[in-house]
Amino acid sequence: MYKINENYLKLPGSYLFSTIGKKVNAYAAAHPDKKIIRLGIGDVTQPLVPAVIDALHSAVEEMGDAATFRGYAPDLGYDFLRNAIAENDYKARGCEISADEIFISDGAKCDSGNIQEIFSLDNRIAVCDPVYPVYVDTNVMAGRTGTYDPGRGTWSNVIYMPCTAENDFTPDLPEETPDIIYLCFPNNPTGAAITKSQLQEWVDYANRTGAVIIFDAAYEAYISREEVPHSIYECQGARNCAIELRSFSKKAGFTGVRLGFTVIPRELRSGEVSLHSLWARRHGTKYNGAPYIVQRAGEAVYSQEGKTQLEQQIAYYMKNAAYIYQGLRDAGYTVSGGVDAPYIWLKAPGGMSSWEFFDCLLENANVVGTPGSGFGPSGETYFRLTAFGSYENTVEAVDRIRAM
Ligand SMILES: *Cc1c(COP(=O)(O)O)cnc(C)c1O
Repeated sequence: MYKINENYLKLPGSYLFSTIGKKVNAYAAAHPDKKIIRLGIGDVTQPLVPAVIDALHSAVEEMGDAATFRGYAPDLGYDFLRNAIAENDYKARGCEISADEIFISDGAKCDSGNIQEIFSLDNRIAVCDPVYPVYVDTNVMAGRTGTYDPGRGTWSNVIYMPCTAENDFTPDLPEETPDIIYLCFPNNPTGAAITKSQLQEWVDYANRTGAVIIFDAAYEAYISREEVPHSIYECQGARNCAIELRSFSKKAGFTGVRLGFTVIPRELRSGEVSLHSLWARRHGTKYNGAPYIVQRAGEAVYSQEGKTQLEQQIAYYMKNAAYIYQGLRDAGYTVSGGVDAPYIWLKAPGGMSSWEFFDCLLENANVVGTPGSGFGPSGETYFRLTAFGSYENTVEAVDRIRAM
């Protein structure tokens, strides 16, 4: 008789977005005349840029002609895309990453969830608190996290690194020594960034203790400050300890198109075994390649027109971020983020909890955000607003909050 993977039963329900949905629907049903503005979910709203649309169209045409039709893509990705990434995301920034160290995938969520498979169950993970939930939940499913404490909202075998106002929302080195360290900068949900010298401390720490860093750089395209690194490979020694994850979702609006990649340098080894060869094996066995059409669209992101158009798209979202940041600050809120990331992290006023502020904002301003407590215990009393709405809605939302 079959048995299930009981680790799945340990997962506490992820009520965050379903609870938000229920509350918003109930409010909308009771107040059909109110216009609700949603600045909660981290999804983009602007259409794909023309350079990407053109590349998609021509790739579709190729697929309709026997002479240019393509079947299975190479497991690890087409060379035209891997070369464009190596050239533009790495070489242009002074990082030595070669095309064959880049593994094309359908996005960073899958990669950040799957990467733990190549490591032993004995490893102890460390995560930031608050955190993008995928890192923890996929380790729960694998059976690496121990038991859950519903009161504290934490796992017994996970090292939590609080990111609070005291440390500017960047973690301190942990007291207990982890084996696998998940870092995401610029950060979702706090919008905080890490400077190159701060990240260098993490790289040195990992090399000293024999840990591996899984660095999620999904928001790299939103960086504005010079001192913030776009890649962990800008740090000395990162080729010996770091895996980097990237996504086209936030960089180019591909949330519905699906494209991302993982970088594993050849030097990254556990004893004699290279992680590159393990991940190549996993990818080749379990994944049959991102669609040709989508990889051509990804290539267009690095064309001159694509770059110019995407700079404008990101500037559009970051103008929203600046409006939210400044507007709330002027209104007396304690705010952070929004400079190198499309997220604004604010402190709920008047000692309110995250959910109390959620209700207050929904009722009084008809604005929907995300309670910080949904991302981990240290997110309690905080609240996330995203810059991914339209400019008009963003301005209206902020003006309503200010009038509360
Ligand atoms: C949005 C996001 C991603 C990207 O996921 P995709 O699967 O590429 O769409 C990865 N990590 C974080 C932290 C994110 O917020």
